[in-house]
Amino acid sequence: MHLNKRVVVTGGCGFLGSHLCDRLVNQGHEVICVDNCFTGTKQNIRHLLDDPLFEFLRHDITFPLYIEADQIYNMACPASPIQYQHDPVQTIKTSVHGAINMLGLAKRINARILQASTSEVYGDPEVHPQPESYWGRVNPIGLRSCYDEGKRCAETLFFDYHRQHSLKIKVARIFNTYGPRMHPNDGRVVSNFIVQALKESPITIYGDGRQSRSFCFVDDLVDGLVRLMISSDEITGPINLGNPTEFSILQIAEKIIALTGSKSKIVFKPLPLDDPRQRKPDISLAQKKLQWEPAVPLEEGLKRTISYFDQLLLSE
Ligand code: NAD
Ligand code: UDP
Ligand code: UDP
Repeated sequence: MHLNKRVVVTGGCGFLGSHLCDRLVNQGHEVICVDNCFTGTKQNIRHLLDDPLFEFLRHDITFPLYIEADQIYNMACPASPIQYQHDPVQTIKTSVHGAINMLGLAKRINARILQASTSEVYGDPEVHPQPESYWGRVNPIGLRSCYDEGKRCAETLFFDYHRQHSLKIKVARIFNTYGPRMHPNDGRVVSNFIVQALKESPITIYGDGRQSRSFCFVDDLVDGLVRLMISSDEITGPINLGNPTEFSILQIAEKIIALTGSKSKIVFKPLPLDDPRQRKPDISLAQKKLQWEPAVPLEEGLKRTISYFDQLLLSE
């Protein structure tokens, strides 16, 4: 039998969080979306606001929160390099103070808690593809550190609350994910390239475009998160969630130009500091423990994302 739960989604107004709220409400769960609207917008959840199963709470998770729930998905944190470097101290506070508060909450109400961790915990990796057993190569004092080290510290906190207080934890290491509702100006590569292509403006490749990433469509990722949350207690993670099909950034640019039929030209800009050269998840653990693997190929996911941005730009 499928029992309905009360579920907290922090960061529920964001790109991933809003899709997760949709999925949980569709499954009949009661969802409390907790967000301070720093990078997310109410627009992303507007269609849910009248649903009796859905509730929006404007709140910054760096402050304590006293509510009741069965499950907590801790998704709150700016995810794009431009956004998380805009106020790096607030980024760390969100990852660290936010995690402490959400873990304190989970402890008091005996809820399961899932952390949206990231492939950034592997830094600029020397091991390829990256398995969960790899400890990573992260610069502790660079421009990306507020995010990377914040997320690493959050993982530490999750495992210490698990060991010390027997909390039921789930840690997902999410790799690059894309899809509708990415913020058009948040600077991530897929949204940047699609918006540039649709506006027929230059496609900005940072560096020579030979650095690689592996892109997962949002629906697949949400499926993985929900599977992890409902998996048996001993599955704590960390567990990689991402699409293992790897592309160079140049290939992504060429695909988006072809799919949009754009006349945009590629221009090359300086590579940001500490930009990882390669990234690809080893997802054998998720395949084995969650019977999960992505189903949406890049081309199909890109088409769906392009059509979202097309509508968005038309409505502007
Ligand atoms: P996003 O920026 O679209 O969403 C983050 C949400 O968190 C926003 O709605 C924002 O307003 C909210 N938020 C930020 N600080 C907050 C705070 N202090 N209190 C309450 N709410 C706060 O980003 P996203 O892509 O949806 O990412 C969601 C989560 O998944 C993040 O934790 C991110 O680190 C993680 N993640 C995402 C990706 C990806 O490719 N999208 C990859 C790895 C990890
Ligand atoms: N906390 C919260 N909601 C709760 C319970 C705790 O936000 O329902 C916060 C509280 O601010 C606390 C933090 O979580 O500082 C950590 O809680 P914990 O019980 O682990 O530690 P302590 O209360 O001893 O600091
Ligand atoms: N990138 C790029 N042009 C852009 C935006 C990003 O070439 O307009 C590159 C960026 O330097 C990185 C890759 O694309 O090598 C992925 O960047 P993103 O910010 O999406 O994610 P992350 O670096 O966090 O994986």
